[in-house]
Amino acid sequence: MGLGNGLKLTWVGHATWIMDTPGGKRVLIDPWVSGNPVVPENLQDPGPHDVMLLTHGHSDHTGDVVSLAAKHSPGAVLAMIELGDYLEGKGVQNVVGYNKGGTAEAAGLRFTMVDAHHSSSFGEQDGTIVYTGEPAGYVVTLEDERRVYIAGDTCVFGDMALIGRLYKPDIAVLPIGDFFTMGPMEAAEATRLLGVKKVVCTHYGTFPALTGTPDALREQASDISGLEVLDTSPGGTIE
Ligand SMILES: [Zn+2]
Repeated sequence: MGLGNGLKLTWVGHATWIMDTPGGKRVLIDPWVSGNPVVPENLQDPGPHDVMLLTHGHSDHTGDVVSLAAKHSPGAVLAMIELGDYLEGKGVQNVVGYNKGGTAEAAGLRFTMVDAHHSSSFGEQDGTIVYTGEPAGYVVTLEDERRVYIAGDTCVFGDMALIGRLYKPDIAVLPIGDFFTMGPMEAAEATRLLGVKKVVCTHYGTFPALTGTPDALREQASDISGLEVLDTSPGGTIE
């Protein structure tokens, strides 16, 4: 089972992922490697990528955007418009700033920005907190027309059912760590609302406060027939 058809998700650590698509494109999601306690040595630089995809402004999702975008020049850096404007101000090139309900095309893939319930800001060195628009999730439509829902940081919310109805995602990447996002109980309900049968676990295990585990999600979601809860360790690949 697993993801199949050439789709690979490599967990850099925390909420940072490398997605290799069936068509051979690479998407880097929410890059944070500097100071990330779980990133293995070989992924301190996640390497070249076609698209950088950002869910919100918090440093555990954007900490290395400026340096990695400068080094690898991805063809598109997709973000909420305020976050995109902020990053452009920091010198990031090829920013595509848009908003929820909209779809951006990049590298032959389609990225639909959808809702997420969280907060979003960037903390400057001097302590200033900069507003970076609302947090977002994405539905990524792959070359084989399968869809991957990347929830970003969020609690569960009822309109995940709407995301399920409109976009029929095949795979959902859901935070399960608790404390800053939903934990396993809410992630199980998110799975039911979305109607997905494959869930990839993210945003857990980084700090002691993030107590949710894939096994706890499996237990909470044990009523969902045919569900695959997929997990790996930082540096590992789900395929
Ligand atoms: Zn986070």
